Amino acid sequence: MGFFEEIADKAKNAAQIVGKNAGNLVDTSKLKLHAADLKSDINKNYEALGKLVYESQKNQTDAAGAIGEGVAAIDELYEQLEAVEAQLLKLSNKTICPKCGEKCTSECQFCPKCGEKLEREEEKEKPADCGCGCEAEAEKPADSCGCGSGCGCGSEDEKK
Ligand SMILES: [Zn+2]
Repeated sequence: MGFFEEIADKAKNAAQIVGKNAGNLVDTSKLKLHAADLKSDINKNYEALGKLVYESQKNQTDAAGAIGEGVAAIDELYEQLEAVEAQLLKLSNKTICPKCGEKCTSECQFCPKCGEKLEREEEKEKPADCGCGCEAEAEKPADSCGCGSGCGCGSEDEKK
């Protein structure tokens, strides 16, 4: 089954390309091209899989092993596609609802479809530096360091 070896190789190559680049590729058009490539590979694999099933049925041969490989190759390609699409969403300032998968803009705090609270990366970042060097978090009770950020670091005394 040379054909499926070829497919498996392709999937492997795709994995390497994405593995190397998905994390730091900031070029949207390249990512889109890559996604289109993956989609066309997936379709080719579906075709090949269909042909394989057809032939094994017609010739009464057992193609279970090759079919399994083909399915695994498609799964692999879908995984790569997901990674590329996630990266594209990130670049376009969108986020995917963890509950229902709806694409939401970065402005919404809740999923417009299912109401799930959306956590975005910016929210996880530390609040702006309060200026006193304490690097405290804004949630802490206000007014102890006098820097105005409510960081609660108690640096007021040291500063004076
Ligand atoms: Zn949702």
